[in-house]
Amino acid sequence: MTENGCIFCRIARKEIPAKLVGENDLALAFWDVSPRQPLHILVIPKLHYANVAELTLNDEKSLVSVMKLASELALEHAEESFRFSFNTGAGAGQTVFHAHAHLTSQTPRSESA
Ligand code: 5GP
Ligand code: ZN
Repeated sequence: MTENGCIFCRIARKEIPAKLVGENDLALAFWDVSPRQPLHILVIPKLHYANVAELTLNDEKSLVSVMKLASELALEHAEESFRFSFNTGAGAGQTVFHAHAHLTSQTPRSESA
């Protein structure tokens, strides 16, 4: 499932560039273009779901792939603590309507970020 004009679908199809940081069969990770924490990575399902609830209720394999990739990258790139967040709905700050986990940390490992 893809959506024309969805910027994260276009990144998943490698049609527009992003600074990739990891990938598995069903998920892709790249650095946020406008980081709001010292470590700020986005992890997306390769298939299009509008938000984390749509992803979870429709595609458990993609959900697990997103969370596995996010967890691997958190352990690799965050020194001590980190956060996963999914803004859902404009009122909660969602601006890109393709499900994505924000992996953020105040304590990146020195070689990261
Ligand atoms: P949201 O506000 O929807 O939770 O998060 C969307 C995130 O995507 C924001 O943190 C924003 O900086 C990031 N973003 C938006 N467009 C692009 C892009 O084209 N490339 C990258 N790498 N990040 C983007
Ligand atoms: Zn999309």
